[in-house]
Amino acid sequence: MSIGSSPVVKDNISVALIEAGDLNKIQDWSMPTGSFSNRASSLTNASQDFLKRSGSWNHVDEQRTCGIEEMQVWDGVSDARITFTAEDLGAEAARNGMSRMTENLNLQRGLLRQLAQLPQVQLLQKTKVQSITRDSDDKQNWPLVYLDNGRVLRSRLLVGADGFNSPVRQFAGVSSYGWSYDTQAIVATLEHHARGAFEGPNTTAYQRFLPTGPIAFLPFSSTASSLVWSTRPHIAKALLACDPAVFSTMINAAFRLPAFSMRYLYDRILESQAAGQTITPAELQAEIMFREQAHGIEHLSTYSSLIRQAPPAGIGSPDSQSIPPLVTGLQPNTAASFPLRFNHAEVYIGEGKASRTVLVGDAAHTVHPLAGQGLNMGLSDVECLTRTVEQAVLHGGDIGSYTALLPYAQERYLANHVLMSAVDKLHKLYTTKLEPVVWARSVGLEVINELDSCEGGDHDVCWSPADHAGLTWLELCSQRRAEYICSG
Ligand SMILES: Cc1cc2nc3c(=O)[nH]c(=O)nc-3n(C[C@H](O)[C@H](O)[C@H](O)COP(=O)(O)OP(=O)(O)OC[C@H]3O[C@@H](n4cnc5c(N)ncnc54)[C@H](O)[C@@H]3O)c2cc1C
Repeated sequence: MSIGSSPVVKDNISVALIEAGDLNKIQDWSMPTGSFSNRASSLTNASQDFLKRSGSWNHVDEQRTCGIEEMQVWDGVSDARITFTAEDLGAEAARNGMSRMTENLNLQRGLLRQLAQLPQVQLLQKTKVQSITRDSDDKQNWPLVYLDNGRVLRSRLLVGADGFNSPVRQFAGVSSYGWSYDTQAIVATLEHHARGAFEGPNTTAYQRFLPTGPIAFLPFSSTASSLVWSTRPHIAKALLACDPAVFSTMINAAFRLPAFSMRYLYDRILESQAAGQTITPAELQAEIMFREQAHGIEHLSTYSSLIRQAPPAGIGSPDSQSIPPLVTGLQPNTAASFPLRFNHAEVYIGEGKASRTVLVGDAAHTVHPLAGQGLNMGLSDVECLTRTVEQAVLHGGDIGSYTALLPYAQERYLANHVLMSAVDKLHKLYTTKLEPVVWARSVGLEVINELDSCEGGDHDVCWSPADHAGLTWLELCSQRRAEYICSG
């Protein structure tokens, strides 16, 4: 769609967009104010800029999105913590927020509305690609795309934006390397109390790294947020089978209780389910109350996981914003889970018999969602591929040729590889319980957190927001660590 809408390309090339799913449902998608879909992405400013330039963002309902102003990330074993604010990421982030929580359906509906204004792009929805072959007599070697409605499309360039199981990648014979994380990401839309009058708005994203995987709380509105809880498959299955009140209390506990107490609670739920029973909300609350007393957590403190009828009145405790507000329930039918994996194609451009093919998005790379980068990487791919195709058209080149496509692979492969490796290492670093590793990662996180902005200040190690404009929190974190190492 981005290629088809390019002013350079649109008069020279016809574009067909093939989608197996029913897009009419997305075109007509709407939800009552205050209710949010369970699949959402945190879109970086770079992704939003691209969508704005291509005209699609105008069709996204911005009222339903939420700018993230701050991130709190901490270690579930040692409690070492790092805090980022939008200012840390430069002037643009200070103006627009670090990123913007956007429901995938809100974005997809916006893209479809933009597509409706592009008669040059032919949309073939509810249409599945059944096979892709070549005509051996065709000297130009164009791929033939066989659709399940009997049509056959002959294409100068075949873009595989067809997800992890990419039929285009398979046809191109491009191998990929990767692994399953043996982890499921539970998603749900959470309801919670609004922040108190003396606290800030609900614009902070929270992520706690538990030994079983990270749990993230991402804001939508003052009283609703999105959950992404990555955990072992058997725990995910057990949590999803629980009473919603039990699940909500477990979410609160996962942000508050020590990791070994969480392990006890998982076992308690698994044992009761193995015995054909389900733990009741009252039983779980009794378990948590006992453990909170043992850990010295006051019943009315910020660190108590027990759901209260009303938010605490008056000035909140000083640490009330270091963890998310108490979850009071789940929006109906929003709890679901997805398997997580790492996967990277060996190459992005097909060669030889598979020439005239190129991969973007999850067809090229699939990454753990802990840094919210998968879709952002895919949008950067699309932006770069559009530029590459434009250059080929402007220079009278063949847009499907390897030479024309090479700048795309050169720009995107390494950039994606670096980000994917960082995310994968972060996942591995935080799922180990080995004490020396926990100590080292905690010291590292605390040190990075101490490297505050110090324009004009008197610090041994300092950094300035202007030097970090446009970075994601993950890149900023790596850079702050590098600066610390460089300055001894
Ligand atoms: C829990 C979770 C949270 C995430 N959070 C974030 C986040 O905060 N930020 C972020 O950037 N990313 C996030 N991601 C990653 C993001 O969701 C993915 O990277 C993104 O959806 C991939 O988009 P895609 O279009 O490349 O692939 P897909 O979404 O898989 O789309 C592929 C499309 O191809 C179509 N297709 C496949 N085969 C055929 C065929 N044979 N014929 C016709 N059509 C076909 C499918 O119907 C589908 O519509 C998250 C992922 C998960 C699991």
